[in-house]
Amino acid sequence: MRVLGIETSCDETAASIVERDASGHATILSNIVRSQLEEHAPYGGVVPELAARAHVSHLDHIIARAAASAGIKLNELDAVAATAGPGLIGGVLVGLTTAKAIAAALGKPLIAVNHLEAHALTARLTDGIAFPYLMLLVSGGHSQFVLVRGVGDYQRWGTTIDDALGEAFDKVAKLLGLGNPGGPEVEKLASKGDPRRFNFPKPLLKEDRLDFSFSGLKTAVRLAAEQQAPLTDQDVADICASFQRTVAEIVATRARSALEKYAVELPGQPLRLVVAGGVAANQAIGAALREAADNAGATLIIPPIPLCTDNGAMVAWAGAERLALGAADPLDVAAKARWPLDSADMGLTHGA
Ligand code: ATP
Ligand code: MG
Ligand code: FE
Repeated sequence: MRVLGIETSCDETAASIVERDASGHATILSNIVRSQLEEHAPYGGVVPELAARAHVSHLDHIIARAAASAGIKLNELDAVAATAGPGLIGGVLVGLTTAKAIAAALGKPLIAVNHLEAHALTARLTDGIAFPYLMLLVSGGHSQFVLVRGVGDYQRWGTTIDDALGEAFDKVAKLLGLGNPGGPEVEKLASKGDPRRFNFPKPLLKEDRLDFSFSGLKTAVRLAAEQQAPLTDQDVADICASFQRTVAEIVATRARSALEKYAVELPGQPLRLVVAGGVAANQAIGAALREAADNAGATLIIPPIPLCTDNGAMVAWAGAERLALGAADPLDVAAKARWPLDSADMGLTHGA
């Protein structure tokens, strides 16, 4: 089956066509992403209204390019999938409404995809792994451990009680006067800095839970920056390196505990840790996670970075996984700004 996937929940306008064969093997036929970085650059962050307008301006063209690059016509599709939440509601509405129109015009099923489920199932698209597995989602809006038991079957084990990890990178970058998105900027400068110069706090880490807290750490970084002002290039690099070391240690410590819990609660199951979301691009965090996974005897899977950040292929794939199980959504399905993975309506609905 061939599924068109549309992603518009944040600042990427994306469309992709993915083919899933009867044995569950996936082929990405096309994957087109248009980032809105330039539109939002003057504001130092994503402006929801601007994002929605940019999706309106570009989505039709991005879908046409996805079809052309896959070499197929829209009427050769078996279903149309779009992110229906969570995300910036204006943007979600643009993508979901477009998907509804295409599905109605073609007379093909519509699949309303949870954006977090799309991130969660990406490792099956790229690595073909079986259920169950443990996912660490670390993105611009989320930081959570999720037990992935099956399509639509998720159990959240921990989440952030304040900022997401990507958000923390972005805020630290902003307060140091670096560009947006901040993650790659911080990582670049960190490579030139001393990771031991500053001792930043690790909020919540002593508590026996799988949650994160990054806002106090961000404040500590701000105070250190204020104390050192005016900052030399070396000061900035040292702050970036120390911040990155601290979050890598936090994430690795939590991953160790999550893998321990997994081993206890799912005895006999292979230990697999899948990383999803844009922060998966960070090499220092990746290395810390690899060490934690190796020590626990677990396999670490980090999909290729373009599939970790927002893209249409993960949405098309999540749609294909649902369709293969007979699920589809009615044309009046609602867009949702909030939609946790473990909410009751994540299960499979049948027949539009
Ligand atoms: P969500 O999926 O939660 O709605 P999102 O889709 O906006 O959020 P992603 O596109 O998955 O998030 O990831 C973007 C985030 O990843 C940004 O916060 C960015 O700073 C961060 N990021 C990207 N590259 C790196 C890196 N090399 N190191 C650290 N963080 C990074
Ligand atoms: Mg983004
Ligand atoms: Fe995302």
